[in-house]
Amino acid sequence: MEFRLTPEQELMRESIRRLAAQDITPVLAKHDRNAPLPKPVFVAILTKLAALGLTTPRIPATAGGAGISMLEYGLLFEQVPAPIALSLISHESCIARLHAECDDAQRRRFLPALVAGSKIGCTGATEPDTGSDPRGVKTKITQQGDMLIINGRKMWITNVSACDLIIVTGVDQREGKTRGKVIKVVIEREQSPFEAREIDTIGLRQGMLGEAVFDNCRVPLKNLIQSEAGGTEMLQATWMVNRPLLGLLAVQLAQQAFDIALDFAKTRRQFGKTIAGHQLIQKNLSDISTAITASRLMCYHALAQVDSGGAADGTSAMAKRFAQNACQEAAWQAMNILGAMGLSTEARIEALYRDIRMLPVPDGTNEILALIHGRELTGVEAFRGTGRALPR
Ligand SMILES: Cc1cc2nc3c(=O)[nH]c(=O)nc-3n(C[C@H](O)[C@H](O)[C@H](O)COP(=O)(O)OP(=O)(O)OC[C@H]3O[C@@H](n4cnc5c(N)ncnc54)[C@H](O)[C@@H]3O)c2cc1C
Repeated sequence: MEFRLTPEQELMRESIRRLAAQDITPVLAKHDRNAPLPKPVFVAILTKLAALGLTTPRIPATAGGAGISMLEYGLLFEQVPAPIALSLISHESCIARLHAECDDAQRRRFLPALVAGSKIGCTGATEPDTGSDPRGVKTKITQQGDMLIINGRKMWITNVSACDLIIVTGVDQREGKTRGKVIKVVIEREQSPFEAREIDTIGLRQGMLGEAVFDNCRVPLKNLIQSEAGGTEMLQATWMVNRPLLGLLAVQLAQQAFDIALDFAKTRRQFGKTIAGHQLIQKNLSDISTAITASRLMCYHALAQVDSGGAADGTSAMAKRFAQNACQEAAWQAMNILGAMGLSTEARIEALYRDIRMLPVPDGTNEILALIHGRELTGVEAFRGTGRALPR
């Protein structure tokens, strides 16, 4: 087992680091920290990430993808500042789903602008009454001639307020079809307009999280995704990568909190010496650093397991849940090291704590992740209370 990065991996990581330092962090600092970035600003950043291959890590190199492993993607992803990184997962996994499930004609229509980063994509599964159990969606898809008619509401969707394209899951209500099956439709906003608005949240406030209303939204029949994989199966496949990525996002934020706390501890003086010289502060710093390192390694391990083709469902669920909990606690401890200063908005460490708090919910809450891991350990599905053993 080799923990050292290859020179190529070092180079890739350095180029994203440089992009973040020159073209992302200063732009975020220039804009209101409590409001979503304006769409043109986000598109300009996305275009730069696209030029470095970060919109296509999950597309095979033979089909024009970045040609990197999921572990390499994780190493790069960790360098992208958090509000942008969350939008990137939504955009990039939308591309991965379209590539995996669309026919050639649909790929040619939808993918080029998304891959180039000039248009923004997202996926809408969650609804006001449907969260952890995606099979409960109520959005209705009917048909009139060669148009599909979409009626429903999607909530808590990353990127939706600014998106140009959204993959929507809904219940098939078409005459003569398998009524009640969950199917997917690509809605291109320019030709099939719908309303969307931002939802204000405690953290990642420069990112985009919103809701969309589809009121008799008319979509060409050719935008129906006819994939053999069911709606939930494909969501499942993308979750295996998204979960450790979200874990790495918590790692990135906790690392920033640690850096602030370490600097503070080296300069703040109490009882005649810097607080870094007090044994309990050293122990707290050690705990924080241990939590971050363990989280990072678990997420890398899950991504490496996806790369090796092994069963990664339980491992990726375990990695995300561990990282969210450990990094939330780490950020809390880091805030404590700053004393009252940790509570001030000026020190910005409280913002990191609030940002991490956003991450246990998307792509599986902590309870659902425990059940996914438990299912893999026991072979028994506990979600719906049937206690039924799974076929091995
Ligand atoms: C930052 C962010 C980004 C998001 N991005 C997207 C996106 O791009 N697209 C999208 O479709 N959705 C997105 N979501 C929505 C997210 O996927 C859902 O919020 C999530 O699946 C949980 O659903 P819910 O909030 O309705 O909670 P519920 O499912 O209603 O759960 C409520 C509580 O009950 C618990 N619970 C539920 N079922 C069980 C069970 N069987 N056993 C034990 N406990 C249970 C949950 O863990 C939770 O604590 C995003 C959410 C956030 C916060």
